[in-house]
Amino acid sequence: MGNTRKVKSITLGCRFNVYESEVSKAIIRSLDPNDDVVIINTCAVTKQAENQSKQAVRRAIRESNGAKIIVTGCALATCKDYFRNLDGIYSIIDNDKKSKISSYTALPHSNDISSIDTDMNSIYNMEFAEDMFNERVKVFLQIQTGCNNFCSYCIVPFARGRSISLPLDVILNKIKFFLDNGFKEIVLSGIDITSYSIDNIKLHDVIKAILDKYTTLERLKISSMNPNGISDELLDLITNEHRILPHLHLSIQSGDNEVLKSMRRNYTREFVLDLINKLKNTRKDLVVGADIIAGYPNETNAYFNNTVNFIKTSGISLLHIFPFSPRPMTLAAKMLQLPGSVIKERAAILRELASNIKLNLMNSLINTTTNGLVEKCDNNISYGKTDNYLDFTIKESIPINTIVKHMKIIGIENNKLVCSVMG
Ligand code: SF4
Repeated sequence: MGNTRKVKSITLGCRFNVYESEVSKAIIRSLDPNDDVVIINTCAVTKQAENQSKQAVRRAIRESNGAKIIVTGCALATCKDYFRNLDGIYSIIDNDKKSKISSYTALPHSNDISSIDTDMNSIYNMEFAEDMFNERVKVFLQIQTGCNNFCSYCIVPFARGRSISLPLDVILNKIKFFLDNGFKEIVLSGIDITSYSIDNIKLHDVIKAILDKYTTLERLKISSMNPNGISDELLDLITNEHRILPHLHLSIQSGDNEVLKSMRRNYTREFVLDLINKLKNTRKDLVVGADIIAGYPNETNAYFNNTVNFIKTSGISLLHIFPFSPRPMTLAAKMLQLPGSVIKERAAILRELASNIKLNLMNSLINTTTNGLVEKCDNNISYGKTDNYLDFTIKESIPINTIVKHMKIIGIENNKLVCSVMG
């Protein structure tokens, strides 16, 4: 099939998977075997995500039209036998072999016995394919993977292995490539990004090096962080360096100390409140988001109410609520579970609270000004994200990938800020 061969990816789950799918695609394309390939990057963050991953793989097999189907991602770790025995899968790529996240070998039931084996160094050193992120205006740059924490409810350390970090020189080269290719926003991502560490270089050193070297980069975002991984140096950078976007997402999970202890999260409610206070007092435009799990096994009514009160007083404005679902192999899965109806009810209460808090934030921003990056333009309406990562629309046509400065926020429609361009 030569150079007409297609490599397609189907990605479920986190942004981290989005990035990894692009890397795998580029590697497989560069290795240039002779067939069409579909890579499915699966997710196992909840039982539902796992089921959706299985469905996506079965659909890809049905619609493969002769393409080789390759399965990778977290659901592969939790359901390996299922995927290994599924007819129509050409190969699987283990997530937990951290030095070989993109290697693949034909499964015994496949007719084709060819194998490809690419280690992490190839990913560090590879030249990105020209069209790697062309359909996007921002780049999710994965600088760390794996995790050493073993939180009681989480499958990631089993599925992805221990924390490893991308060397600084590789990060800087990649960013040069992205900026040279016109991207306006870089999102630094990782499974546990605050654990970034290589050659005594920490996350704040990486951010400082990026900002010092690339003075034209206007929008740098840090993806979800563990509250207890934010060092004083990082705090300092976030509060003083205005090219770091004023939106931080913290994986807090609960506002009750007994629940946090059982989750093995290694921080307290008081620690988080103090951190948010410090952040918001020194950087006034900062919006804080958080993940919260509803219905963790030891969450009594009183503990749940503590979380509700924590959210109300914390200054968090954007919340992602996850109903607890036990993951195999984890400590929390062995605990006595709460009834499903209780978990559902608590998630619904928190989601309603979250939507009111977000609306309050959006209302408070009306008549203020902000900047935003245009990500899409359809029928003379432009769409994008403000500096603090709220969705906005402008009722005029603006080329995608434009940073609009000093937009005035004039209203709210369909959960988005409506803005007008000043001057
Ligand atoms: S910090 Fe905890 S929740 Fe996050 S990936 Fe690691 S083990 Fe999972």
